[in-house]
Amino acid sequence: MYYPEPIARLIESFSRLPGIGPKTASRLAFHVITMQEDNVIDFAKALVSVKRNLHYCSVCCNITDTDPCRICQDKTRDPSVICVVQDHKDIVAMERTKEFNGYYHVLQGAISPMEGIGPDDIRLKELLNRLSDERVMELILATNANIEGEATAMYVSRLIRPFDIKVTRIAHGLPVGGDLEYADEVTLSKALEGRRELN
Ligand SMILES: [Zn+2]
Repeated sequence: MYYPEPIARLIESFSRLPGIGPKTASRLAFHVITMQEDNVIDFAKALVSVKRNLHYCSVCCNITDTDPCRICQDKTRDPSVICVVQDHKDIVAMERTKEFNGYYHVLQGAISPMEGIGPDDIRLKELLNRLSDERVMELILATNANIEGEATAMYVSRLIRPFDIKVTRIAHGLPVGGDLEYADEVTLSKALEGRRELN
């Protein structure tokens, strides 16, 4: 189908987003034409800003616009517990439960031999560095309830064994194969409460 170049370009841009097929992409693109110019400019600026102004927290590896991130800066949190998650979106899910008041560590992935992702490809070194902080008493492994998440949890628990730190794994009220970020608050709260010791 023929579209003027600017609209074709916009459709192509939208279709690169996850979950957006060609039909939705063209619907969104044509919607932009009807939007007020101010809103379109804000939208464009927000897109650029999210890319330019976000980076990884030097402490927990979460995505942030400050360094350390706001959570790592928060002195009211409990320094004795670090919750280890795969993805920054999992922090949002955990925060929604309002049950956890420690700090986080984002691995930015999980060990997956099938996909060629090994221990060196996730943020484990950064996690180990944090364990020199003597206040850390417990690591809660909140990786996903699938093969990669389990493999990662086992690997981390073995890695931490030489340290005098309790390692726990969140319980499996979580849907099997389910990502943490999609778990509802109640399920996640229960999973956190029912965590069991690994080491
Ligand atoms: Zn941080």
